Amino acid sequence: MPGIYIHIPFCKKKCLYCSFVSFERKLDLEDKYFAALLKEIDIASNDQYLKNLTFDTIYFGGGTPSLVKARNIALCLKRLREKFTIKKQPEISIELNPESVREEFLKKLKNEGINRVSLGAQDFTERGLKTLGRVHSKDDIHVAVKKIKKSGIENLSLDLIFGIPGQNRKWLLKSLDEAISLGPKHLSCYELTIEEGTELHKLKKTKSLKLPDEETLLELTVTLEEYLEEKGLFQYEISNFSVPGYECKHNINYWLVKDYLGLGCGAVSYFNGKRRFNEKNLKKYLNAIGKGQLALKKIEILDREKAFREAFVIGLRLIKGIDTTSFKRRFSIDPFQFYKSELSNMLKKGLLVIDQDGKNIRLTKRGRYISNYVLSLFV
Ligand code: SF4
Repeated sequence: MPGIYIHIPFCKKKCLYCSFVSFERKLDLEDKYFAALLKEIDIASNDQYLKNLTFDTIYFGGGTPSLVKARNIALCLKRLREKFTIKKQPEISIELNPESVREEFLKKLKNEGINRVSLGAQDFTERGLKTLGRVHSKDDIHVAVKKIKKSGIENLSLDLIFGIPGQNRKWLLKSLDEAISLGPKHLSCYELTIEEGTELHKLKKTKSLKLPDEETLLELTVTLEEYLEEKGLFQYEISNFSVPGYECKHNINYWLVKDYLGLGCGAVSYFNGKRRFNEKNLKKYLNAIGKGQLALKKIEILDREKAFREAFVIGLRLIKGIDTTSFKRRFSIDPFQFYKSELSNMLKKGLLVIDQDGKNIRLTKRGRYISNYVLSLFV
């Protein structure tokens, strides 16, 4: 189930927690950027390995893809269909930010085959949105969802962040209630992480940012999981929940560590045993593509053992866990032998479990709550 990711790096304003490749005040470069993307598609399509794949999903992420012209997104889709084999009725997602959702834009994209939208709501309190440095208000989220529903795209995912400074159970429940009232088919709920180089990181260093303690974070995590399950959104990955049948196929492909092609400034690809990192600097990206070359910054070759370890750690994020039979087939390594002592230790502690048929290894609920620790043992 290979996928294609296209990165659109433009944003209205950098959010205080943002460590993604995104730029403010660069929208004047939009057409130039899309011309480069089309060229990159052409260059990438000369790769015989990619030529032989059939892609199941396409994902426009950012940045803020809802800031650009629908015509540019349509041109990208057209070129991808011309140059690669795309399966019939693929999942095609686009990320939107509430303040920039436009009816006409959505209508055009629906006609182009976009069938899934992921809206960056993040929180439903003005306090939370302000702390995160988001440019939208709570009301903008409601207005955006109305427009999305009017467009006829029914596969709506909402992004939420929890663990915001000052957040408690009541606050989280209020945000979840409001999110659920909008009828999403999917929710991504990530814990706030303070990455180096972000504005929140600077505030943390000056001690003027009071993050929730471990106990509060655990309470928030348990609340989140229990609440969403009660509302019929089932957890299929540590941070992702959906109505059955609406799991994000594009992201499942990442967690299964299967092939994907990433295009655009700062995008990452993984195919044919190699991970390729595109240039994160916009000017350098545009210059390289302008010269008719790929804008690669780094290529990492994964040997069999490294690829196995990575796939094991990432795969454990899925609630159903690792299918050991397919792992043995794929890597010629038996996970039970390779991780003998780690597994025995984690099974004894009740942090991992082997399913009854003896095939899948997965995190227990307790293991999920301290997943960073458990996963770190298998790196
Ligand atoms: S909208 Fe997303 S990509 Fe843009 S600055 Fe905010 S977090 Fe970063």
